[in-house]
Amino acid sequence: MNLPTQPEDIAPRTRLVLETIGPSAWEGLVRAEQAWQTCKSGSPPARTVVFESSTSLETPDWDVVICGGTLGILLGTALVERGWRVAVVERGQLRGRDQEWNTSRQELVCLVELGLLSPTELEAVIASEYPATQVRFSGSGQYRIPDVLNIGVDPVSLLARLLERFRTEGGVLLEQTDFLQSTIHPQGVAVTVRGEGGERYLRARLLIDGMGQFSPIVRQLRRGGRPDGVCLVVGSCATGYRDDREADLMATITGVTGDCQYFWEAFPARDGRTTYLFTYVDADPRRGSLTGLFEDYLRLLPDYQGTPLEELHFQRALYSFFPAYRNSPLRSDLARLLLIGDASAQQSPLSFGGFGSMLRHLPRLVSGVDRALEANRLDVAALQSLQPYQPNIAVTWLFQRAMCPTVGQNLPPEQINRLLGVVFEEMAKLGPEVLKPFLQDAVRWDGLTRTMLAAFGRDPLLIAGVVRQVGLPALVEWLGHYLNLGLYAAVQPPLAAAWNTWGKMLEERSPELAFEVWARLQAVSYGSGQES
Ligand SMILES: Cc1cc2nc3c(=O)[nH]c(=O)nc-3n(C[C@H](O)[C@H](O)[C@H](O)COP(=O)(O)OP(=O)(O)OC[C@H]3O[C@@H](n4cnc5c(N)ncnc54)[C@H](O)[C@@H]3O)c2cc1C
Repeated sequence: MNLPTQPEDIAPRTRLVLETIGPSAWEGLVRAEQAWQTCKSGSPPARTVVFESSTSLETPDWDVVICGGTLGILLGTALVERGWRVAVVERGQLRGRDQEWNTSRQELVCLVELGLLSPTELEAVIASEYPATQVRFSGSGQYRIPDVLNIGVDPVSLLARLLERFRTEGGVLLEQTDFLQSTIHPQGVAVTVRGEGGERYLRARLLIDGMGQFSPIVRQLRRGGRPDGVCLVVGSCATGYRDDREADLMATITGVTGDCQYFWEAFPARDGRTTYLFTYVDADPRRGSLTGLFEDYLRLLPDYQGTPLEELHFQRALYSFFPAYRNSPLRSDLARLLLIGDASAQQSPLSFGGFGSMLRHLPRLVSGVDRALEANRLDVAALQSLQPYQPNIAVTWLFQRAMCPTVGQNLPPEQINRLLGVVFEEMAKLGPEVLKPFLQDAVRWDGLTRTMLAAFGRDPLLIAGVVRQVGLPALVEWLGHYLNLGLYAAVQPPLAAAWNTWGKMLEERSPELAFEVWARLQAVSYGSGQES
């Protein structure tokens, strides 16, 4: 499909819905569509925005400059509370989006534990909460899962509260200010930004990139390469649904069509009901448009939710895509530069829950950056150790591949539904201690092994078909991550016990060595899903 340039270019049903929402809906679609088409055609060569220089730099004014405030403000507030001088540079206005972030209470409580919100403030930023979410696939059973992704957080309220605390503690926010470039010197990093008053320079000990997946720094580090996988998402928030009680974490109502398996999500929200249609694809230029996907979404929504479109009042429409790279998390090979949030690509290629992922890693990041600043370990190795390889995320690549037919692969239409049906049934039999970590992006070796053995025992032919679909190279690569996951799971308990016994003494005698040991323990704990 050609890029729509006028509302007349799109199907009447889509046009009608976009018109009822207002011009921003159309503009958002065109923006997202342009970005997706650029991604498919291969991003243009990346500009260099981070330079290195061996010349000296005047004494830094800031310990940390964070570029990108959406999730950056979480880390910024925690660092400023620990006494560091922090500036946050934000291109627009630092205001959260209207659309809620779904997450679980288990992840959210870290905001209280880290002292960023009081328990009362935490309750105030929760816009919706429901007892359970469900997983259901066409042609198989359905499973209710309590306490997983059953909370909708209001980003506007959360960011406003954090910003107030950030400023009270002495943090400085530069809004309407663009990151332009930076130069890394032996003593610090010079960051060039442009705001209303023109260009200015910030000198910091550490630069943190929180500018999201399309950050100019990310593009430089990835050398503008094409992603290995993509999740296309469209959806809306609307009122008027006949039944608004249930929440779906993942549901299917169709099989594979047009080389895509469609998945649905639905959550009660503060101003209506949020529904998403998402699909895992690659960046093959023959893949369809986001506009086409949104048309399919509107076509299938009445079947999925049991409500005709005419009864719905659309508040907003959503379209986006999440690129994913095998080389994740993205680690900078430059000193004094750390990536966080979507820029770091540390979230799972299955869930793309970047807010949830940030919450999960926040205690580690706060403590890690605090320790690195304290020990003055802002070199490449130290900062890379704060963005470690995680085998439990790496293994999920194969699952993403299994749900992503390549163009022209002609997969049996029900293969993905059957696979998910078998896997979830076996996980449900094994209990919540297996099912929940999987849905919370904290896959564990024992749960994964038991599930795979059970699924293979149940339907060996189906599993053989999936192996054929993903191909031998992907399987061999996966096996490496799986073995690493087993190794991490085995060494984590003795390492954690040793740290509990000797860690304090080590911190007193050699903070530098303590930092390295601590970072490795964190890598092993998070990488094996045993962080809590
Ligand atoms: C439709 C949709 C639904 C989602 N639902 C969920 C969910 O339910 N749960 C969940 O966990 N996650 C969800 N996510 C993902 C989540 O929104 C992201 O992971 C999160 O927003 C990432 O935050 P970030 O700060 O890393 O990047 P971004 O949100 O991309 O923010 C980047 C920030 O950097 C700023 N910036 C960019 N360039 C510059 C520059 N040059 N100079 C200065 N500042 C700059 C931007 O203005 C922005 O504030 C969803 C995403 C979408 C699109």
